[in-house]
Amino acid sequence: MSIAVDQERLSREIEELAAISDGEVPAVTRVVFTPTDLKARDWLMAKCKKAGLTVRQDPVGNIFARWTGSQPDAPAVGTGSHIDAIPNAGKYDGVVGVLGGLEAIRSLQASGFRPKHSIELLMFTSEEPTRFGIGCLGSRLLSGSLSVNKARKLADRDGILLEEVRANAGVTGALEEVKLPDGYYKAFVELHIEQGPLLEQQNIPLGLVTHIAAPASLRISIEGEGGHAGAVLMPERRDALCAAAELILAIETAARASNARDSVATVGICTVFPGAVNSIPSRVQLSVDVRDTNLERRDEILRRIRAAGQNVAAQRQVVLDEEVLNADAPAECATSIVETLAESCKKHQLNFMPMVSRAYHDSLFMSRITAVAMLFIPCRNGYSHRPDEYVSSEEIERGVIVLAETLASLAA
Ligand SMILES: [Zn+2]
Repeated sequence: MSIAVDQERLSREIEELAAISDGEVPAVTRVVFTPTDLKARDWLMAKCKKAGLTVRQDPVGNIFARWTGSQPDAPAVGTGSHIDAIPNAGKYDGVVGVLGGLEAIRSLQASGFRPKHSIELLMFTSEEPTRFGIGCLGSRLLSGSLSVNKARKLADRDGILLEEVRANAGVTGALEEVKLPDGYYKAFVELHIEQGPLLEQQNIPLGLVTHIAAPASLRISIEGEGGHAGAVLMPERRDALCAAAELILAIETAARASNARDSVATVGICTVFPGAVNSIPSRVQLSVDVRDTNLERRDEILRRIRAAGQNVAAQRQVVLDEEVLNADAPAECATSIVETLAESCKKHQLNFMPMVSRAYHDSLFMSRITAVAMLFIPCRNGYSHRPDEYVSSEEIERGVIVLAETLASLAA
């Protein structure tokens, strides 16, 4: 089987989709269930139908486009990604996995290959958290990683509930029906841009993801006592910001202490109340993001952070309150799929390296219900989520060839 990717068609389609945007060229803005997003979805479904695929949309708007195999009841082989884009983003994040996946299917059709297992292209709803404050909404629901009750409570910034937003978008059906039945997929492979600089720096065209890191996000509030910056003397103080400062350093120490390259912890937001130059901070809110590729190691960091918090609270007589916003488990990619990807790279004499995905993707949630792997291609300077995000068509083509061969081998 020899696979010929229609690189020109694919480049043209990437440009066409980029033009369906609320951003000013070259920026792409496509927020889930806006009129622009709905237009992009219609455009995509038309392309899939033109390729002879059977298209359906589930009640949260995940789109499935199926090339039915000769054993239609056997578990399917999935591929895909997202096409929503944060404000002022680029053309390639997610899109390469969706349109590249479609091109992989079309090139397999043209090669004469006929799958036994159906091959299914997926477009996940709202991978980006822009509208509802939660990432990977579609894949979380598909995999049962988010309860329908919680999903029903989601609202956008204007207070409009997901239920209403999707109804207005013409996406109907009960959210209970989104979760896929057990054994629906045999495997899932996602092609994605790296969104980091490593492949380009090492001049390696393909990255085979072995682990997907996952964040735990916490909000920590520290309650001390305010007062006049001149009148309250030092021994009397319970300064919430001084307590926060100690805790922030302890959070850094907690991640460093795990002595693993993949352990990271960040305090990204520190909000101080009342925030006046002559007022002792009475309350501080910190946002904490802890990531690792290993769940036990990550939870150990969280334990160290909590212990440090108790210490600080006792010594400085402040009250700490912690809220866990999310704590998704990291995922390991399936060795057998990674090996299949590697075989295809070798066949085409393409250099590759194992990688960790430090951003999270729909594949993280797909890993809860099936074997997954991810294939990374380089992007210029590692830039992503910005208008100058760029991937050459040659790089995309290499990714599509390896993806197509891997899908064929999994579906044979
Ligand atoms: Zn993405």
